[in-house]
Amino acid sequence: MIKLFRGEPPKSLTSASVASLTSEYTTSGKSVWNLESIKKALLAYSSSKCAYCEESLDIASNYMEVEHFYPKVPHSHLVVEWKNLLPACKRCNTSKGKYDPATDGMIVNPADVYPQKHLYFSELTLRYRDDIGERTILACNLNRTDRLFRVRSDLHAAMHHSLERTRSDMKTYLAGNTSYENEQKIVRSVASLLKSADPKKPYAAFLASSLLSDPTYIWIKESLQGSGLWEPLDKLEQSAKSVQLAR
Ligand SMILES: [Zn+2]
Repeated sequence: MIKLFRGEPPKSLTSASVASLTSEYTTSGKSVWNLESIKKALLAYSSSKCAYCEESLDIASNYMEVEHFYPKVPHSHLVVEWKNLLPACKRCNTSKGKYDPATDGMIVNPADVYPQKHLYFSELTLRYRDDIGERTILACNLNRTDRLFRVRSDLHAAMHHSLERTRSDMKTYLAGNTSYENEQKIVRSVASLLKSADPKKPYAAFLASSLLSDPTYIWIKESLQGSGLWEPLDKLEQSAKSVQLAR
Protein backbone atom coordinates (compact mmCIF):
# COMPACT_ATOMS: atom_id res chain seq x y z
CA MET A 1 0.00 0.00 0.00
CA ILE A 2 1.30 3.44 -0.87
CA LYS A 3 0.10 6.97 -0.24
CA LEU A 4 -2.22 8.06 -3.01
CA PHE A 5 -2.80 11.64 -3.98
CA ARG A 6 -6.47 11.89 -4.78
CA GLY A 7 -7.14 13.63 -8.06
CA GLU A 8 -9.96 15.97 -8.88
CA PRO A 9 -13.41 14.35 -9.08
CA PRO A 10 -14.58 13.59 -12.61
CA LYS A 11 -16.51 16.41 -14.27
CA SER A 12 -19.60 14.21 -14.27
CA LEU A 13 -19.75 14.45 -10.47
CA THR A 14 -21.31 17.86 -10.04
CA SER A 15 -23.19 18.59 -6.84
CA ALA A 16 -26.44 18.23 -8.81
CA SER A 17 -25.47 14.83 -10.26
CA VAL A 18 -24.23 13.63 -6.86
CA ALA A 19 -27.61 14.51 -5.35
CA SER A 20 -29.54 12.84 -8.15
CA LEU A 21 -27.38 9.67 -8.19
CA THR A 22 -27.59 9.40 -4.41
CA SER A 23 -31.35 9.67 -4.52
CA GLU A 24 -31.48 7.11 -7.35
CA TYR A 25 -29.46 4.72 -5.19
CA THR A 26 -31.70 5.22 -2.16
CA THR A 27 -34.85 4.51 -4.14
CA SER A 28 -33.65 1.78 -6.53
CA GLY A 29 -30.48 0.35 -4.95
CA LYS A 30 -28.83 0.68 -8.37
CA SER A 31 -25.01 0.68 -8.58
CA VAL A 32 -24.93 4.37 -9.47
CA TRP A 33 -21.17 4.62 -8.82
CA ASN A 34 -20.35 2.27 -11.69
CA LEU A 35 -19.71 5.10 -14.14
CA GLU A 36 -16.81 4.97 -16.57
CA SER A 37 -15.94 8.57 -15.66
CA ILE A 38 -15.62 7.66 -11.97
CA LYS A 39 -13.57 4.53 -12.69
CA LYS A 40 -11.26 6.39 -15.04
CA ALA A 41 -10.63 9.17 -12.53
CA LEU A 42 -9.91 6.64 -9.75
CA LEU A 43 -7.54 4.65 -11.94
CA ALA A 44 -5.79 7.83 -13.03
CA TYR A 45 -4.66 8.80 -9.54
CA SER A 46 -3.80 5.24 -8.45
CA SER A 47 -1.73 4.44 -11.56
CA SER A 48 -4.34 1.74 -12.28
CA LYS A 49 -3.63 -0.14 -9.08
CA CYS A 50 -5.74 -1.39 -6.20
CA ALA A 51 -5.54 1.22 -3.43
CA TYR A 52 -5.01 -1.49 -0.80
CA CYS A 53 -2.89 -4.29 -2.27
CA GLU A 54 -1.38 -2.46 -5.29
CA GLU A 55 -2.38 -5.16 -7.72
CA SER A 56 -2.65 -3.87 -11.26
CA LEU A 57 -6.24 -3.16 -12.31
CA ASP A 58 -7.51 -3.41 -15.83
CA ILE A 59 -10.64 -1.53 -16.73
CA ALA A 60 -11.12 -3.59 -19.91
CA SER A 61 -11.45 -6.82 -17.96
CA ASN A 62 -13.86 -5.10 -15.57
CA TYR A 63 -11.63 -6.25 -12.78
CA MET A 64 -11.61 -2.94 -10.99
CA GLU A 65 -14.27 -2.26 -8.40
CA VAL A 66 -15.30 1.06 -6.95
CA GLU A 67 -14.72 0.63 -3.24
CA HIS A 68 -16.66 2.64 -0.68
CA PHE A 69 -14.38 3.40 2.25
CA TYR A 70 -17.46 3.98 4.38
CA PRO A 71 -19.83 1.24 3.17
CA LYS A 72 -23.02 1.99 1.27
CA VAL A 73 -25.00 0.70 4.22
CA PRO A 74 -25.43 2.67 6.44
CA HIS A 75 -23.63 5.52 4.63
CA SER A 76 -25.97 5.77 1.64
CA HIS A 77 -25.37 9.54 1.45
CA LEU A 78 -21.73 8.78 0.52
CA VAL A 79 -22.29 6.37 -2.40
CA VAL A 80 -20.92 8.81 -4.97
CA GLU A 81 -19.05 11.12 -2.62
CA TRP A 82 -15.66 11.40 -4.34
CA LYS A 83 -13.65 11.27 -1.12
CA ASN A 84 -15.38 8.04 -0.13
CA LEU A 85 -14.41 6.18 -3.30
CA LEU A 86 -11.25 4.18 -3.92
CA PRO A 87 -10.13 1.92 -6.76
CA ALA A 88 -9.90 -1.65 -5.48
CA CYS A 89 -9.40 -5.15 -6.76
CA LYS A 90 -12.18 -7.66 -6.31
CA ARG A 91 -10.30 -9.53 -3.59
CA CYS A 92 -9.69 -6.50 -1.37
CA ASN A 93 -13.17 -5.11 -1.97
CA THR A 94 -14.81 -8.45 -1.18
CA SER A 95 -12.66 -8.98 1.88
CA LYS A 96 -13.42 -5.52 3.25
CA GLY A 97 -17.10 -6.10 2.50
CA LYS A 98 -19.30 -4.31 5.01
CA TYR A 99 -16.42 -3.26 7.25
CA ASP A 100 -17.31 0.19 8.52
CA PRO A 101 -14.38 2.34 9.69
CA ALA A 102 -16.88 4.56 11.51
CA THR A 103 -18.07 1.82 13.86
CA ASP A 104 -15.64 -1.11 13.46
CA GLY A 105 -12.54 1.04 13.93
CA MET A 106 -10.58 3.31 11.63
CA ILE A 107 -8.36 1.71 9.00
CA VAL A 108 -5.84 3.21 6.59
CA ASN A 109 -7.37 5.15 3.74
CA PRO A 110 -4.29 5.52 1.52
CA ALA A 111 -5.78 8.57 -0.18
CA ASP A 112 -5.91 10.33 3.19
CA VAL A 113 -3.01 9.10 5.32
CA TYR A 114 0.50 7.77 4.87
CA PRO A 115 0.47 3.96 5.18
CA GLN A 116 4.06 4.20 6.52
CA LYS A 117 2.65 5.48 9.81
CA HIS A 118 0.73 2.28 10.41
CA LEU A 119 2.31 -0.50 8.35
CA TYR A 120 5.67 -1.99 7.48
CA PHE A 121 7.01 -4.99 5.63
CA SER A 122 8.98 -7.71 7.32
CA GLU A 123 10.19 -10.01 4.54
CA LEU A 124 7.03 -11.23 2.76
CA THR A 125 4.64 -10.16 5.49
CA LEU A 126 2.88 -6.85 5.92
CA ARG A 127 2.95 -5.97 9.63
CA TYR A 128 1.33 -3.29 11.76
CA ARG A 129 2.64 -0.58 14.03
CA ASP A 130 -0.70 0.19 15.67
CA ASP A 131 -4.39 -0.75 15.86
CA ILE A 132 -5.20 1.10 12.65
CA GLY A 133 -2.57 -0.92 10.81
CA GLU A 134 -3.71 -4.19 12.36
CA ARG A 135 -7.35 -3.58 11.44
CA THR A 136 -6.34 -2.59 7.89
CA ILE A 137 -4.46 -5.85 7.33
CA LEU A 138 -7.36 -7.89 8.74
CA ALA A 139 -10.16 -5.99 6.98
CA CYS A 140 -8.54 -6.21 3.54
CA ASN A 141 -6.76 -9.52 4.20
CA LEU A 142 -3.48 -8.04 3.04
CA ASN A 143 -1.42 -11.14 3.81
CA ARG A 144 -3.67 -13.52 1.91
CA THR A 145 -1.83 -16.70 1.21
CA ASP A 146 -3.68 -17.59 -1.98
CA ARG A 147 -2.21 -14.72 -3.93
CA LEU A 148 -0.28 -11.93 -2.25
CA PHE A 149 2.26 -14.22 -0.59
CA ARG A 150 2.88 -16.01 -3.85
CA VAL A 151 3.27 -12.75 -5.78
CA ARG A 152 5.63 -11.31 -3.15
CA SER A 153 7.62 -14.51 -3.11
CA ASP A 154 8.00 -14.51 -6.91
CA LEU A 155 8.93 -10.82 -6.97
CA HIS A 156 11.45 -11.36 -4.20
CA ALA A 157 13.03 -14.32 -6.00
CA ALA A 158 13.40 -12.31 -9.23
CA MET A 159 14.87 -9.39 -7.30
CA HIS A 160 17.31 -11.65 -5.47
CA HIS A 161 18.43 -13.21 -8.75
CA SER A 162 19.04 -9.81 -10.31
CA LEU A 163 20.90 -8.54 -7.23
CA GLU A 164 23.18 -11.58 -7.18
CA ARG A 165 24.06 -11.09 -10.85
CA THR A 166 24.77 -7.41 -10.25
CA ARG A 167 26.84 -8.18 -7.15
CA SER A 168 28.99 -10.48 -9.25
CA ASP A 169 29.44 -7.77 -11.93
CA MET A 170 30.29 -5.25 -9.21
CA LYS A 171 32.94 -7.61 -7.86
CA THR A 172 34.59 -7.84 -11.29
CA TYR A 173 34.41 -4.04 -11.51
CA LEU A 174 36.14 -3.64 -8.15
CA ALA A 175 38.70 -6.24 -9.21
CA GLY A 176 39.67 -4.12 -12.21
CA ASN A 177 37.11 -4.64 -14.98
CA THR A 178 36.24 -0.95 -15.09
CA SER A 179 35.21 -1.01 -18.75
CA TYR A 180 32.42 1.35 -19.76
CA GLU A 181 30.39 -1.68 -20.74
CA ASN A 182 30.65 -3.30 -17.31
CA GLU A 183 30.01 0.00 -15.57
CA GLN A 184 26.86 0.61 -17.61
CA LYS A 185 25.67 -2.95 -17.11
CA ILE A 186 25.77 -2.48 -13.33
CA VAL A 187 24.16 0.95 -13.39
CA ARG A 188 21.39 -0.24 -15.75
CA SER A 189 20.68 -3.25 -13.63
CA VAL A 190 20.34 -1.21 -10.41
CA ALA A 191 18.24 1.37 -12.29
CA SER A 192 15.93 -1.36 -13.48
CA LEU A 193 15.51 -2.73 -9.94
CA LEU A 194 14.76 0.75 -8.61
CA LYS A 195 12.31 1.43 -11.43
CA SER A 196 10.38 -1.70 -10.52
CA ALA A 197 9.81 -0.09 -7.11
CA ASP A 198 8.56 3.16 -8.60
CA PRO A 199 5.29 4.35 -6.98
CA LYS A 200 3.47 3.84 -10.29
CA LYS A 201 4.40 0.15 -10.49
CA PRO A 202 2.36 -2.74 -9.04
CA TYR A 203 3.44 -3.81 -5.54
CA ALA A 204 5.80 -0.81 -5.30
CA ALA A 205 5.66 -0.71 -1.49
CA PHE A 206 6.71 -4.34 -1.20
CA LEU A 207 9.44 -4.04 -3.83
CA ALA A 208 10.84 -0.81 -2.38
CA SER A 209 10.81 -2.25 1.13
CA SER A 210 12.54 -5.48 0.10
CA LEU A 211 15.07 -3.88 -2.17
CA LEU A 212 16.19 -0.95 -0.04
CA SER A 213 16.74 -3.09 3.05
CA ASP A 214 18.52 -5.91 1.22
CA PRO A 215 22.17 -6.25 2.36
CA THR A 216 23.31 -7.08 -1.19
CA TYR A 217 21.60 -3.97 -2.54
CA ILE A 218 23.20 -1.87 0.20
CA TRP A 219 26.63 -3.32 -0.60
CA ILE A 220 26.18 -2.62 -4.34
CA LYS A 221 25.02 0.91 -3.58
CA GLU A 222 28.01 1.60 -1.31
CA SER A 223 30.36 0.17 -3.94
CA LEU A 224 28.80 2.38 -6.62
CA GLN A 225 29.09 5.40 -4.34
CA GLY A 226 32.73 4.58 -3.66
CA SER A 227 33.35 4.35 -7.41
CA GLY A 228 31.56 7.61 -8.20
CA LEU A 229 28.80 5.84 -10.15
CA TRP A 230 25.84 6.38 -7.85
CA GLU A 231 24.66 9.85 -8.83
CA PRO A 232 22.35 8.95 -11.76
CA LEU A 233 20.60 6.42 -9.53
CA ASP A 234 19.91 8.69 -6.59
CA LYS A 235 16.66 10.13 -7.93
CA LEU A 236 15.30 6.66 -8.62
CA GLU A 237 16.16 5.59 -5.10
CA GLN A 238 14.44 8.64 -3.61
CA SER A 239 11.34 7.74 -5.55
CA ALA A 240 11.36 4.15 -4.27
CA LYS A 241 12.08 5.40 -0.75
CA SER A 242 8.91 7.49 -0.81
CA VAL A 243 6.80 4.31 -0.81
CA GLN A 244 9.02 2.06 1.30
CA LEU A 245 7.26 0.57 4.31
CA ALA A 246 10.40 0.26 6.38
CA ARG A 247 10.49 -1.28 9.81
ZN1 LIG B 1 -6.43 -5.28 -3.78
